[in-house]
Amino acid sequence: MIPIAALQSIVSRSRPMPDDTDLSSPASAPAVADSTLPAQAVAVQGLTKTYRASGKTAAKEALIDVDLEIPRGSLFGLLGPNGAGKSTLINILAGLVTKTAGRAAIWGYDIDGAPRQSRAAIGVVPQELNIDPFFTPRELLELQAGLYGVPPAERRTDEILRALGLLDKASAYARTLSGGMRRRLMVAKAMVHSPPVLVLDEPTAGVDIELRQQLWAHVRELNLRGTTVLLTTHYLEEAEELCDRIAIINHGQVIACDRTEALLAQLDNKELTLLVDRDLAAAPESLAAYGPEKTGPRHLLFRYRASESPVTEILAAVSGAGLSIVDMTTEETDLEDLFLQLTRGAHEGEA
Ligand code: ADP
Ligand code: MG
Repeated sequence: MIPIAALQSIVSRSRPMPDDTDLSSPASAPAVADSTLPAQAVAVQGLTKTYRASGKTAAKEALIDVDLEIPRGSLFGLLGPNGAGKSTLINILAGLVTKTAGRAAIWGYDIDGAPRQSRAAIGVVPQELNIDPFFTPRELLELQAGLYGVPPAERRTDEILRALGLLDKASAYARTLSGGMRRRLMVAKAMVHSPPVLVLDEPTAGVDIELRQQLWAHVRELNLRGTTVLLTTHYLEEAEELCDRIAIINHGQVIACDRTEALLAQLDNKELTLLVDRDLAAAPESLAAYGPEKTGPRHLLFRYRASESPVTEILAAVSGAGLSIVDMTTEETDLEDLFLQLTRGAHEGEA
């Protein structure tokens, strides 16, 4: 497990940069009072991306007029099926993909107006593992620090390696590292310039359960110590367990965005199926207010919000309609159902 103190010291140096940011020494930038910190770590307005048609592929609207605010300090999940536009959004923030329209700011710095500052404020762990196998973790971090202009005296290579449990592999060739170690090395790379915002694109895709738990623990810890984290995932349980806020994206559009509890509270939906004592030609008129669906000769399905219509009310109405109940089953909808509901047809229109 990672020593907490190590993580603490890493993130305590994550700080915003003043306007005259000297990117050659991000770690030595003067501390800025809390009141000057941006409320939104990331703010995106009307963000649109259309990939141009090429020889074989048609043009693709990967993002359509996306608005998104990621509050400072949050552990934010961008959840959506494959092809939803998650990586496109991340890559625009990282300066790797050019947007077609709209605005984006990281830590208050507009990506067009202050590209150097905005890029210095974000560390991105890309979806694809892209680690040069012939470098050691220490060399890779030093190289990355060089790219970001962190002077040797201010580099925290060993500290970061320790924080991610890689210090004992500091001098091993990357090609000898396990998949899990490589993932952690990617996180380490994204942190060399002490960005206040850390972005992880599908950090646990294809990663086994044990390692997933470990990565979650690292991410939680970083967040607890002050780093704003944005992660993309197509795993519901990951977003549900880890994130305090979730945005659901599908076909390039944000279709839900809220605190995780609030999203889950929307799922106050329940389903009740009743088996009654006789064949029904149709659901009785007197039950119309509850919108039952006849799912079998003697089966009635009710979809209801437990907070609005208690089950006893429905049962009373069924008795009132002169039916006896022989059996009943109930089901609760969860985030998975909401996700399926919202993203239904996700693959329609895809060849
Ligand atoms: P996600 O990360 O949610 O799986 P992406 O952002 O990678 O989604 O992709 C969104 C859509 O844009 C997909 O339909 C994908 O095929 C398309 N796309 C992604 N990158 C490119 C590209 N470089 N050129 C053309 N289309 C692309
Ligand atoms: Mg992706």
